[in-house]
Amino acid sequence: MALQDLRPMMERCSSCSGCKFIPFEKIQSVRFAENCPSIGYYNFHTYAARGRFQLSQSVLDGRTELTETVTEAIHSCTSCGLCDVTCKITRYNLEPLAHNLEQKAYAVEKGAVLPAQKTIMETLAKENSMIPGTKKKNRTDWAKDLNLKDLFKEKGEIAFFAGCKYSYDEKLQKTAQDAVRILQHAGVDLGYLGAADNCCTGRAKQMGYFKEFDKGANTNIKAFEKAGVKTIVTPCSDCYNSFKRQYAELGMEVEVLHVVEYIERLILEGKIKFSKSVPMTVTYHDPCHLGRQGEKFEAWEGIDKKIFNQIHIYEPRKPRYNGIDGVYDAPRNILKAIPGVNLVEMERIREYSWCCGAGGGCSQTLPEYSAWTAGERIAEANSTGADALVTACPWCKDNFTDAEDEDGNKMEVLDIIDLVHKAI
Ligand code: SF4
Ligand code: SF4
Repeated sequence: MALQDLRPMMERCSSCSGCKFIPFEKIQSVRFAENCPSIGYYNFHTYAARGRFQLSQSVLDGRTELTETVTEAIHSCTSCGLCDVTCKITRYNLEPLAHNLEQKAYAVEKGAVLPAQKTIMETLAKENSMIPGTKKKNRTDWAKDLNLKDLFKEKGEIAFFAGCKYSYDEKLQKTAQDAVRILQHAGVDLGYLGAADNCCTGRAKQMGYFKEFDKGANTNIKAFEKAGVKTIVTPCSDCYNSFKRQYAELGMEVEVLHVVEYIERLILEGKIKFSKSVPMTVTYHDPCHLGRQGEKFEAWEGIDKKIFNQIHIYEPRKPRYNGIDGVYDAPRNILKAIPGVNLVEMERIREYSWCCGAGGGCSQTLPEYSAWTAGERIAEANSTGADALVTACPWCKDNFTDAEDEDGNKMEVLDIIDLVHKAI
């Protein structure tokens, strides 16, 4: 698919502005009614899904050039997908997220990229990591004392996949190590890919680098197959989306579980029991790539057909991906099972969750905007009266940790694994 092929979709947009707000019946306050970080921060129509459609039309028509400002506008989409969910409430035949990604791919093809993206992609090419300054030779250091099986040397079917952020970020590594210890303690025979462990490349796709994503994904799929992996378990929501949705689209047939899904299963089976109370009130942030973009891939082959000479329909019916089947209950069930934990909810939750700001590479490429986006979520979390903000993704946790709301308030930020580890 090329950007040009999406022109009919761009023309079908009805300018209803549904891509700028959570659904009206879900709004509890004007303060937390918006849904799109990029128009929220830049405050200009081009930055919302509708404006992005118009921008593509103008660029394809030759009326707008890919200047620095236009390049920043294109890459400021965090790929959070909330506009896609709210648009589809009334528009089954529009896919703003797919368009935004194609728009980025078009810009990448034309060389219209942000300076930090070049550095990230050089690191991916040389070191198989999305984090500049990291080295492939150090990728598995985080796991050296964990007794994880190298699945290329020992037999096993369950692969733990930490992802770049947990593998390299020293502030976060303990959480990944604790996840492994929790699963091992519950009797799970856990391995990993050892020297073949590389970036999932999902964030490359989020930035519009489609060829690099395909190359990395196909290499990883072969590695999982060669190692005999039947189940992948990951504590990273970005990696989860890559495997569950994007790799499945490329033909991978492996069970994919986020750690929260596995932990919930082990609690239900009586293999994880909590012995300590963790008395605190928490609120839970749904990561975009575990929540609304955590729905499973459904293959579709069909046609886009016009009926009554004006309405576009898909024949057969196309999967809708409106976010409702994402992973929302598992983390909440875990929190409710931990003695002492009191869960209070924010206003924008589940498929309408506000993005942490790190998606689409934005925490690395546009840090001020990304920090503002995280600060908006800290404000929402603080408004609940919770002691801590809990999430299930290292990119979200890292982005929230230093963020401040508009009054300069911070908040304690925890991964759900940290809480489980405390309670066992
Ligand atoms: S992209 Fe969808 S929600 Fe946004 S204005 Fe167009 S039709 Fe409405
Ligand atoms: S995907 Fe998220 S950041 Fe991008 S335009 Fe849609 S709501 Fe805005």
